[in-house]
Amino acid sequence: MKIQAVRGFKDWLPEEFAKYEYLIELAKNILKTYNYKEIKIPILEKTELFVRSIGEFTDIVQKETYTFQDRNKEFLTLRPEATAGICRMIIERGLFVNPKPLKFFTVGPMFRHERPQKGRLREFFQIDVELFSELNPYIEAEIISLAMEILKAPFFQEKEQKIYTLEINSLGCSECRPKYREDLLKFLEENKENLCDTCKERITRNPLRVLDCKIETCKKVISKSPIITEYFCEDCNAHFKNLKEILDFIGIRYVENPRLVRGLDYYVRTIFEIKAKGLGAQDTVAAGGRYDYLLEELGGPYLPAIGFAIGLERWSISIFGDEEKGGVLSSEKLLEKLNPDIFLILLGKESLIKGFQLATFLRKKGLRCEVTYEEKSLKAQLKNADKLSAKYSLILGEEEFKKKSAVLRDMRKSIQDNIEFKDLEDLSVKVFEKVKNGV
Ligand SMILES: [Zn+2]
Ligand SMILES: [Zn+2]
Repeated sequence: MKIQAVRGFKDWLPEEFAKYEYLIELAKNILKTYNYKEIKIPILEKTELFVRSIGEFTDIVQKETYTFQDRNKEFLTLRPEATAGICRMIIERGLFVNPKPLKFFTVGPMFRHERPQKGRLREFFQIDVELFSELNPYIEAEIISLAMEILKAPFFQEKEQKIYTLEINSLGCSECRPKYREDLLKFLEENKENLCDTCKERITRNPLRVLDCKIETCKKVISKSPIITEYFCEDCNAHFKNLKEILDFIGIRYVENPRLVRGLDYYVRTIFEIKAKGLGAQDTVAAGGRYDYLLEELGGPYLPAIGFAIGLERWSISIFGDEEKGGVLSSEKLLEKLNPDIFLILLGKESLIKGFQLATFLRKKGLRCEVTYEEKSLKAQLKNADKLSAKYSLILGEEEFKKKSAVLRDMRKSIQDNIEFKDLEDLSVKVFEKVKNGV
């Protein structure tokens, strides 16, 4: 019996994981400077959390999530996104009384039961960033700027510009959006026969989501639809103008996309998406927006919020490429770190126990140390050190221990050096220095 992974779920091999770890670390360091605090929230939540926050039981929750009943017949859902969970946490733990702004981020897997394709897995990783406070265009511009700063952190300035495109839009407010929604609904009804089946279903339930459809025939219809920008009330107009002025001032390039939507009613005003070149149809690397009413809808107080999520897989592909295509940056340097710094070649039974101790000393100093405790010949062990891409090997036989002189070999340059030592601790200090500074 050969058991395979669940469709759309994937294994992270060390080479892939190293890239993720690197990107997450870059993101975390930037987020800390903006005073965001890391949290973890559960992967599993009660289904009602998403029914309420997503609002479309049949469309999203039922078809696009992993929803099931547990042994107590309770409906549970693997989180499709982190925002609702963070809102639940804020309400449940009473964090809304804390000084504002509340700024959180979390890194982890999300789950959606969609047809897997390039850049779209059923288990995917996100860096999710959320801010809760009274909002103004400055805070909104700052969060957009933060998303861009994180994405381009691995790059030099020149390269990044060609890869990421920021699209912005405003969804208006409760004053100006209803009229737009009404006119959009009318337009979609008139063009219903040219829409895909999913969109036909969506028209009455959530017409805004139709604008998000990626199917060509739908896109054609959508390109003639009314646009929200023409319906803005005075406040929304001024707000959006102000946001653009700030982005211009801080030098962040953007494209206005009046048909950019988030298909959920609690989003208001500013929304944005960052797309990357070379990713095909699934090219959105980060997406976010302002959602003033979600906390209230979930039973908390009124507290405006804005946030975004970065898709880690897509971000990584946009930088390092994938199996099919090379990336803009090479991951060679990152992957080199996966190789052992040093391989201990122990010759003879007596040196095994001493080698054991030496390895402990070297590891405590932070060296990536490999030792196999095999009683094999020098030649066989050198070959193994080479296959494992060890940077150095240290040769220690009975003879070496007797003379208190070990041989350190630079595997790439094929040069050797004798290291005289008093005891194992002394040897570990000397080896550490040589490895760190190069022989
Ligand atoms: Zn408005
Ligand atoms: Zn469609």
